[in-house]
Amino acid sequence: MGAQQEKKPSEERKYRSTQNNTPTSQVQWGRAWEVDWFSLASVLFLLMFAPLIVYYFIMSCDQYQCCLMNPLIDLLTGNRHLSDIWNKTPMLTYRAAGIYALWVTFQVVLYICLPDFCHKFLPGYVGGVQEGAVTPAGIVNKYEINGLQAWIITHVLWFANAYYFHYFSPTIIFDNWIPLMWCANILGYAVSTFAMIKGYFFPTNPKDCKFTGNFFYDYMMGIEFNPQIGKWFDFKLFFNGRPGIVAWTLINLSYAAKQQELYGQVTNSMILVNILQGIYVLDFFWNEAWYLKTIDICHDHFGWYLGWGDCVWLPYLYTLQGLYLVYHPVQLGTANAIGILILGFIGYYIFRMTNHQKDLFRRTNGNCKIWGKKPEYIECSYMSVEGTKYYSKLMTSGFWGWARHFNYTGDLMGSLAYCLACGFEHALPYFYIVYMTILLTHRCIRDEHRCLSKYGKDWKRYTAAVPYRLLPGVF
Ligand code: NDP
Repeated sequence: MGAQQEKKPSEERKYRSTQNNTPTSQVQWGRAWEVDWFSLASVLFLLMFAPLIVYYFIMSCDQYQCCLMNPLIDLLTGNRHLSDIWNKTPMLTYRAAGIYALWVTFQVVLYICLPDFCHKFLPGYVGGVQEGAVTPAGIVNKYEINGLQAWIITHVLWFANAYYFHYFSPTIIFDNWIPLMWCANILGYAVSTFAMIKGYFFPTNPKDCKFTGNFFYDYMMGIEFNPQIGKWFDFKLFFNGRPGIVAWTLINLSYAAKQQELYGQVTNSMILVNILQGIYVLDFFWNEAWYLKTIDICHDHFGWYLGWGDCVWLPYLYTLQGLYLVYHPVQLGTANAIGILILGFIGYYIFRMTNHQKDLFRRTNGNCKIWGKKPEYIECSYMSVEGTKYYSKLMTSGFWGWARHFNYTGDLMGSLAYCLACGFEHALPYFYIVYMTILLTHRCIRDEHRCLSKYGKDWKRYTAAVPYRLLPGVF
């Protein structure tokens, strides 16, 4: 193994590459400049159908007790017309608009006005100002990592209200769920449209913009890489983490409160879903600095996919299990409940350890121990747009030696556990595992395509050393 140092952004010493790769070819990594017909068809499909899918799922719960087939049967048999379903759908209300505006404003204030203090007293927690990865244009952005703090403050206030102040009912989210969905859509479309306009007229880092020339693709996948307003309002970090992910646990708490109100008790399945998803959310905020190095922040541009997805898709579809359990309170047998909990914990352990191993490896530049041994790795290099050459390493030890994306495998096991908690009466709660399987498999392929463009022959050496993607011996 070579002993070259990975260039740290802060100690960047630039020099022109002497390799054959020209800067022009290197621009390709992280960027699909030419939109193939499949990408365009997928983009058009999602733009047209993703909002309908969200509406269909939420409406099915509201009007059909979470049965996905009955609305279709009703429509096909002429039992009901589209207009009947639409007329029964709650519309936007002033109350929901007020709640939503207050919620988003509160999260913006927590994000930009309250520098992180958690890292000052929580051992092991990395917060405060942190650097992101090198962008394709060679820029290193700084971020204020204060998501954990925002999550804690929000939840302390939530519990203070639920148990002490009683300003509003803890079922408030469930009670306004569909009117809030219209508000989330308005914000999702507004922010995506604004991001597109900003990309054309006042981008933050013009060299990191991507124009494919295809309006729909640019709208969906984004033009700007890291749109920002002022020094600290970063669109990707804000919309990815808050308001959607902070809301995730509150939404689940609201569902639990609704069960209590309707049935006089909270079922063990609801508690399981709250605990397992709560761990996932807390993990996200505890590791928010690590999140700066994930694909969302490092490689994706900010468009409708992230803007609308974070405002609508995530809070509405990632919380379907809790919503389902309000309509179908499932009380699991002890053995089943323990089995699901164990599956969830093992999935979480694999997810966390795999991510941790890569993070540790990259942070220490390979000077660490993975499973008690010095990690093995493959040296690789890549170039920024400017032609600056950087060195990096791809680890082949630990979980990263088992498969190239074993973190996704752990994530999928955890996702399956949430779904299983809902029993087998209806398909709706299983949407999540189906969706995550598609998302993560597609992400795997997308990421590997990008890594191949970035590292070239070094990536091929890596895939030869670690031949499987998700499951050793299978895929
Ligand atoms: P990864 O954390 O796996 O990051 C992939 C990147 O890591 C690659 O692009 C490459 O980046 C680097 N890399 C790849 N192989 C190696 C290696 N062997 N050694 C060192 N570095 C390597 O992917 P994501 O960002 O997609 O996922 C992060 C986590 O978030 C995952 O656990 C995933 O399950 C979860 N997730 C959850 C989602 C949800 O909706 N719940 C959605 C998406 C992700 P580089 O260019 O730096 O070399």
